[in-house]
Amino acid sequence: MTEVVTLGETMAAFRAEGLVRSAHHAAVSVAGSEGNVAVGLARLGHRVRWVGCVGDDGLGRLVRRTYAAESIDVSCVRVDPHAPTGILVSERRMGGVSTVDYHRRGSAGTLVTESDVVDALACRPQIFHASGITPALGERCAAAVTAGMREARRRGATVTFDVNYRARLWSEEAARQALGPLLGTVDVVIGDSAELAVLVPGADDESRVRALFDLGVSQVVIKQGRLGATAFLPHRSVHAEAFSVPEVDPIGAGDAFVAGYLSGRLERLSLEDQLVRANMLGAFAVSTPGDWEGLPTRDELRLLSGAPGDVVR
Ligand code: ATP
Repeated sequence: MTEVVTLGETMAAFRAEGLVRSAHHAAVSVAGSEGNVAVGLARLGHRVRWVGCVGDDGLGRLVRRTYAAESIDVSCVRVDPHAPTGILVSERRMGGVSTVDYHRRGSAGTLVTESDVVDALACRPQIFHASGITPALGERCAAAVTAGMREARRRGATVTFDVNYRARLWSEEAARQALGPLLGTVDVVIGDSAELAVLVPGADDESRVRALFDLGVSQVVIKQGRLGATAFLPHRSVHAEAFSVPEVDPIGAGDAFVAGYLSGRLERLSLEDQLVRANMLGAFAVSTPGDWEGLPTRDELRLLSGAPGDVVR
């Protein structure tokens, strides 16, 4: 039985060796926040379905094939014959700084429909997970998220929502206007402190968390980078420290964190242990290259207790 359904756009990712303008080679992979969450869950052995739309092209086949190889259920991915799979192109500049260009306007991923999502939820998952990136892609995507949340609620699933505010996609004001009405159908909000400030008014985290509870949210999880994370319930909060790891590539840490949190939640771990699992996956993501490639299998979680130079056989 499917435990989690995630919804979002996954693009083909071209990562240039050196600068794009003079590159002869690029590594090709796939990138999408909610898909990263699906990979994290699948690697830990959870049954997860990713729903989205790809083009009828080689890159769309790459997306489906990559996720299928990760044991993600792609049976509800729609192939749109009229629009291409979205693309992102990134290059590494000085130090660890990367720049990314997105080519996603009019992409197949932005054409996902309400019925794509509603149909994908017929498997009655325990959790439906969406992020604030999808509503930023246009009204059609926003409607698909809204329909998914309502349908998930109707079927008794927990709705989790990662704010994932992207300043390149929309202004804070536009995000607040669009995301505010969704919050009444969200059980768990996940974000960093600045993202909560985009969602609701309030002078500090405590008052923003309170504002979210007033809207019907039952739990708020605040990611705090190398400081770990704090989860808030209406009458208590729990903090868990991050793991100490070398920072190699921070992109994808937030998605990995969500996968770990959802995994802990599915296994009914204590709230503190859910955060520990979340921080573990976040630590794997920051200490390995790639958005999702370095995420651990269940067996590999124990590598976090290894010291530099250790060889685990
Ligand atoms: P992204 O948008 O790049 O995916 P984010 O900004 O959403 O990431 P962060 O708060 O930076 O997310 O990190 C998410 C989680 O990853 C943290 O809560 C923590 O568990 C882990 N993490 C992040 N940075 C570090 C670090 N330097 N060392 C250890 N763990 C980290």
